[in-house]
Amino acid sequence: MTIRTRFAPSPTGYLHVGGARTALFSWLHARKHGGRFVLRIEDTDIERSTIESVNAILEGMTWLGLEYDEGPIHQTERFGRYKEVIQQLLESGHAYRCYCTKEELEQMREEQMRRKEKPRYDGRCRTKREPREGVEPVIRFRNPVEGVVVVDDLVRGRVMFDNSELDDLIIARSDGTPTYNLTVVVDDLDMGITHVIRGDDHLNNTPRQINILKALGAQPPQYAHVPMILGDDGKRLSKRHGAVSVMQYREEGYLPEALLNYLVRLGWSCGDREIFALDEMIALFDIRDVNKSASTFNSEKLLWLNHQYIMNSEPEHVAHHLSYQMSKLDVDPTEGPALVEVVKAQRERTKTLAEMARNSLFFYRDFDGYEEKAARKNLKPEAVEPLTDMLQNFQALPDWSAKAIHRIVKETAELRGLKLGKVAQPLRVAVAGGPVSPPIDITLQLLGRERTLRRIERAIAWIEAQGANA
Ligand code: GLU
Repeated sequence: MTIRTRFAPSPTGYLHVGGARTALFSWLHARKHGGRFVLRIEDTDIERSTIESVNAILEGMTWLGLEYDEGPIHQTERFGRYKEVIQQLLESGHAYRCYCTKEELEQMREEQMRRKEKPRYDGRCRTKREPREGVEPVIRFRNPVEGVVVVDDLVRGRVMFDNSELDDLIIARSDGTPTYNLTVVVDDLDMGITHVIRGDDHLNNTPRQINILKALGAQPPQYAHVPMILGDDGKRLSKRHGAVSVMQYREEGYLPEALLNYLVRLGWSCGDREIFALDEMIALFDIRDVNKSASTFNSEKLLWLNHQYIMNSEPEHVAHHLSYQMSKLDVDPTEGPALVEVVKAQRERTKTLAEMARNSLFFYRDFDGYEEKAARKNLKPEAVEPLTDMLQNFQALPDWSAKAIHRIVKETAELRGLKLGKVAQPLRVAVAGGPVSPPIDITLQLLGRERTLRRIERAIAWIEAQGANA
């Protein structure tokens, strides 16, 4: 049997971290078993669903690389099919029309509350047949009154529900539109879903869905309810905890595979291993190993993982993602060193690509002014002589290589009887505008001779102007 999983978001917002993890687990389960992964857009709530949100979800999935084999299938295109199934359930006696008015239901609720009972529909229309004038009926599923529904959840283990606890849920509203539990069941059935992997906020819907499936003569799929993600304050993960959408992580300079690696470890582990390439995740992931308890989101750890991926991924790959950050800063990468060289020079010292882009701007564009503290400390009158020496020697250098540049910096220090730092740091501030950059020889090599010379001249002029103004 081919394993078939699905991700079924409601397009009422972004693809957030929790949704992305559910999608990842479903994707991994399908990939691991050579199965198929289906994307279904649950957009029947017309009021809350938006096209922007559909696009945001698709964009998030694409960025993460969670490619789907089928879909996106929109539920709004399947209303005809839902109607057909509702009709089938009515005809087989598994569903009935309910003519209760709002007032009646409200009164039922109040009486139950007064008797300290759980509010539920009492099934009074189960046996009534005659329509009521002026009332458009809803359609309810006739839930079995006895017995238990056993869910052998792949994450939670065996969970049992008494049918006596479940009331007759509405499967079609009075305007004829189907409700969530009905559409999910019809879709999971029609799409041949073998494994439903979703958030455990849906666990209570599962016995209802199983009952409907049985009424349709179908074999329920296997379920895996994954626990929620908490913020580091122990509260449910929300906007307060930082990123709202996975795309926010792209903006902040995370690599998609770092985020995937982080997400897979949220609630799943494999010994004490932290880093998993995608094919290792596919090989090692087992939905049954997902933790039953909630996991806590830890931004520091995600940042650490991102740094690991920046350092250890192919520089060409990192450069591809860096180019997005560069374009956000209006940098044209053809106006400076190759991005892949920048990645190699910067990857040890930057934890996000946004930071890498900011710290590499000076390779492509002149900066407006020097960082104040660094300039005060390094661009002093005594730096003029070594800077002038280097300016001349750099001009005359036959080959603009890191090795040759290094030799000149070193010789300048020796000649002037200065420590290397006393020469290199003013030079760094002169060319980079601040005190941080890759090793000075590499920095200059990447910057190129022309830019280096112009910036040294500019720094000398700046120091002299400071002196004149003092
Ligand atoms: N559309 C539901 C949601 O976004 C998921 C339903 C399901 O996975 O069964 O929460």
